[in-house]
Amino acid sequence: MAPILEIKDLTHVYSAGTPFEHTALNHVSFSVERGEFIGIIGHTGSGKSTLMQHMNGLLKPTSGSVVLDGKDIWSDKILTRQARFRVGLVFQYPEYQLFEETVYKDIAFGPKNMGLDAKEIDRRVRESADFVGVTPEQLEVSPFDLSGGQKRRVAIAGVIAMEPEVLILDEPTAGLDPIGRAEILENIERYRKAKNATIMMVSHSMNDVARLTDRLLVMNHAELAMDAVPGEVFRRTDELLEMGLDIPDVTRVFLRLRELGLPVEPIYTMEQAISALRQLKEGAAHA
Ligand code: ADP
Ligand code: MG
Repeated sequence: MAPILEIKDLTHVYSAGTPFEHTALNHVSFSVERGEFIGIIGHTGSGKSTLMQHMNGLLKPTSGSVVLDGKDIWSDKILTRQARFRVGLVFQYPEYQLFEETVYKDIAFGPKNMGLDAKEIDRRVRESADFVGVTPEQLEVSPFDLSGGQKRRVAIAGVIAMEPEVLILDEPTAGLDPIGRAEILENIERYRKAKNATIMMVSHSMNDVARLTDRLLVMNHAELAMDAVPGEVFRRTDELLEMGLDIPDVTRVFLRLRELGLPVEPIYTMEQAISALRQLKEGAAHA
């Protein structure tokens, strides 16, 4: 089967031909397999949001192509339109885009645009609200009466109500408290399992991407600097630090332990840390 997404030699120039001309993506290529959970990391201004907005056709490449399920989404109007629904994009701070009178109408906006009938729209609104923990009572209030975390959930419900095959989230936990963050991440994992969906998530949390993703794309100054499994990416500590990025907390602790002479391998998740420490303890018991 073809990859669900193929990004081929993608370049994006903002305000081309003006004094504000800026190349935000420079010959970026990668592909995404069905069902993968991809993390995107990179310093501020490296091009992450610009890249995400190409995945569903919101931005048009200056050159290069975005291929969804084997077809260039810009080769035909119908394909461009389909990409909007098949690839769901949750913006950075999506709560600023809520605008309807009620939460219900906001969640219904996407399914309505898809041309679904009223009964199907209603099913999807209720199902996705329930999925993210928005109560039936909350569906009737104005989105502006909700807390920040609740608004974020409504915005996410509005995207998953389109039941996209690919769910793209641009820093979905930014600005939330630890409980709100955990809830959003749990919702993403559940959506992935329920729909066998492909996930792409931009994040500043190295701990989160290390724990959740299958593969990481590292953006640096408009270029794709790395495309590898988390273990491989986090092994390149010096390069990451040079790009203004961090490494997971446990990775940092283990690097320090190695410096102190303990026989541990580099790791990047809490589970790996626990099993490595267990081995170390057993080794000590047998010594
Ligand atoms: P990131 O999400 O990694 O912080 P962005 O994709 O938002 O990066 O931005 C990449 C670069 O493109 C930045 O230098 C930013 O200032 C610039 N940029 C973003 N949006 C626009 C725009 N609409 N017009 C001009 N430049 C933009
Ligand atoms: Mg961004």
